[in-house]
Amino acid sequence: MNKRRAVYPGSFDPITNGHLDIVRRALSLVDEVVIAIAYNQEKPSGLFDVAERIELIRAVTAPFAKKVKIDSFHGLLVDYARKVGAVTIIRGLRAVADFEYEFQMASMNRHLAGDVETVFLMADEQYFYTSSKLVKEVMSFGGDASAFVPPVVAKRLRKKFKS
Ligand code: ADP
Repeated sequence: MNKRRAVYPGSFDPITNGHLDIVRRALSLVDEVVIAIAYNQEKPSGLFDVAERIELIRAVTAPFAKKVKIDSFHGLLVDYARKVGAVTIIRGLRAVADFEYEFQMASMNRHLAGDVETVFLMADEQYFYTSSKLVKEVMSFGGDASAFVPPVVAKRLRKKFKS
């Protein structure tokens, strides 16, 4: 039987509880989720490098390892989605602020590849304001944002900001 596969793209710098919640929800719709870290070879950016992001994602998705693949890509998302045989692109929607950008991107992707449908999953209300960016900001100033990331990620963030 052909597996129904979804791609969940993002920067995951680092993965948060909000991301994990979306992965869980996506797994109720498809057989396999490919968590794909988007990166730019020419302009590497972010707090964690791609290898570290992968390592953290692997650790926190271990309970559903059989149904989750972790990868990275650069270039067009729709090309990548086709390459891995995904039938859908999963995105999470938080506050209204996400909407405009997500809508633009989904429309463009539909224009580029009408056969790959984008599916939006609404963030759980407890993670509505959780973003990697905010978690990093708070923890860089010594604040405690550990409620929003898995323990292994919180530990790694503390280590990162100590050094
Ligand atoms: P961030 O915006 O936190 O840096 P990414 O760029 O890695 O995250 O986001 C990848 C996808 O995950 C996007 O569709 C984004 O809207 C979604 N996402 C991020 N944080 C959450 C959250 N707390 N709840 C639901 N979806 C989220």
